[in-house]
Amino acid sequence: MSDDFDDLLTANRAFADTFALQGFDGVAKAGVALVTCMDSRIDPLGMVGLKPGDAKIFRNPGGRVTPQALEAIVLGVHLLNVDRVLVVPHTRCAVASSTEAELRRRVSESAGQDASWQSFPTVDDQVDTLKEDVAKVRTHPLVPESVQVGGFIYDVDTGLLRREV
Ligand SMILES: [Zn+2]
Repeated sequence: MSDDFDDLLTANRAFADTFALQGFDGVAKAGVALVTCMDSRIDPLGMVGLKPGDAKIFRNPGGRVTPQALEAIVLGVHLLNVDRVLVVPHTRCAVASSTEAELRRRVSESAGQDASWQSFPTVDDQVDTLKEDVAKVRTHPLVPESVQVGGFIYDVDTGLLRREV
């Protein structure tokens, strides 16, 4: 076995030494589900003042409401105490500032082989796309009207959320 993960496992042992998250039942205690980007500049709990146990987090490139995100939201709403859903793409996101062709070219260069078959969904207009993504949640037949759904753009330079939908 490689020791490529040793630093992380060492840190995990220290984490477990002071582990205080046992006894949770896996519901979202604050009733929040948040769909956001995989971007490492985003702290999805911290940016809205929540802590582990409070929220369901679903991340992907761009913070898109994909079929898998909808699966997570429906499970969250019906089984895990979710009554507010935030969809949160962000400024300076790679999938909103590149075309799919550009991403394929860059990945092809990195991989040293053809990546033109790999899909990388990109976003032309971030606000329009956010409106469409929020509508996908609001109109989902298994998401009741009592669930509040909001679309926000997170500014990675200021830490501020701006509501758009
Ligand atoms: Zn992003």
